[in-house]
Amino acid sequence: MNFYSTQNPSCRASFAAAALRGLAQDGGLFLPETIPAFPVEEMQGLRDMSFPEIAFRVARLYLADEIPGADLRDIIDRAFPFPVPLRTLDEDTSVLELFHGPTYAFKDFGARFMARVLAYLTRNEDTETTVLVATSGDTGSAVAHGFHDVDGIRVALLYPSGRVSRMQEMQLTTLGGNITALEVGGTFDDCQNLVKRALVDREVLARKRLSSANSINIARLLPQAFYYFHAYGKRSGTGRRVVFSVPSGNLGNLTAGLIAQRMGLPVHRFVAASNANRPLPDYLDTGEFRPRESVPTLSSAMDVGNPGNFARLQRLCGGDADGVRQAIYGASVSDEETRKTIREVFAAHGYVLDPHGAVGYGALRRFLGVSRGRYESIILETAHPAKFLDVLETDIADAVRMPDGLRKALQGRKVSVPISTRYEEFRSFLLESHPGDNV
Ligand SMILES: *Cc1c(COP(=O)(O)O)cnc(C)c1O
Repeated sequence: MNFYSTQNPSCRASFAAAALRGLAQDGGLFLPETIPAFPVEEMQGLRDMSFPEIAFRVARLYLADEIPGADLRDIIDRAFPFPVPLRTLDEDTSVLELFHGPTYAFKDFGARFMARVLAYLTRNEDTETTVLVATSGDTGSAVAHGFHDVDGIRVALLYPSGRVSRMQEMQLTTLGGNITALEVGGTFDDCQNLVKRALVDREVLARKRLSSANSINIARLLPQAFYYFHAYGKRSGTGRRVVFSVPSGNLGNLTAGLIAQRMGLPVHRFVAASNANRPLPDYLDTGEFRPRESVPTLSSAMDVGNPGNFARLQRLCGGDADGVRQAIYGASVSDEETRKTIREVFAAHGYVLDPHGAVGYGALRRFLGVSRGRYESIILETAHPAKFLDVLETDIADAVRMPDGLRKALQGRKVSVPISTRYEEFRSFLLESHPGDNV
């Protein structure tokens, strides 16, 4: 299947070319030329399929002509060796726990699939690929773990200095090997801009093979559609209409949900759950998309003022605000409400939400309003609460068990390269040959 650029639909690429480039030549984002239908008979069988089985059936609809079935299945089995449980809170609401991967956030889904895919696509080449990742916290470590010690790949992570949690920073900066953490004196949007500029910089591209691992890479976006099918299959199935609440920042997760819906998954509505960074809720209100400077919040991985996937999302909804409104309800949840929600959910259900999941819960509550009971709602819980212990009140934090992988990261030694937001600085970093390069 071919993929086209949101900037210019006549700019096309194979999946391999799109995945290796990240961004289209014209700076646009790739989308599949057609959205294949998920077979109705298979939809009925979802309940009895394992997660990798579902992932394979979704992925092959896009990739069958470029990656043989056995290889695709192998990529998937190795990318997702962890559980994806759906926990019931009450008869209307459940939580899809997307944080059981090695870095304890949902970014593991996209990043691990993409890492396997890129390693597969470049398996016969000698040129080293440098994978660029701008991260608001969780992406970086997921990508870094996915690529750690993979031959032929270097990873440059850009993260906003002082704007990620301590746990996240330790996860980002303690891996070493083929991973370099660049600590940028700016915001996530600055990091993302540096990456976007590098990916269309002809002079750099002439000398280095670059790829990007943000949610803008199509190989990261597609696998995020898998778990919507999985959750749909695992729900109790009361016949009520299904709503997903999606804690949102760069809008990759939500866009993948839309893709699942357009493939035929019967989702009634998506709730786009934002914190105080609210370009999407504002767009739904006003019909105008206005990127802003991001502001720091408790749910820091969603502190995005200019969401990279907006163009895709809009296109999938037909290109105008009415189309987007039909599919998506938007709500913005304050830090105060986030804290309150964590406390209330803990008191009512003994369940600890992380701040991102709490924004999802708060936004869902806003959507449901008085119509509770009409829908079956699934909240995507995007991070393990242990990553945000500093935000939780003591008695709630005490109820969280620290996973072994996080404890290990805290014991490592932080190594980062500080850079400013000036593109020239990033550029010279990219053009330098790195110690250990085979040049
Ligand atoms: C990245 C992230 C989000 C936002 O997801 P997008 O796909 O960027 O909208 C939400 N929660 C957590 C924990 C994240 O790491």
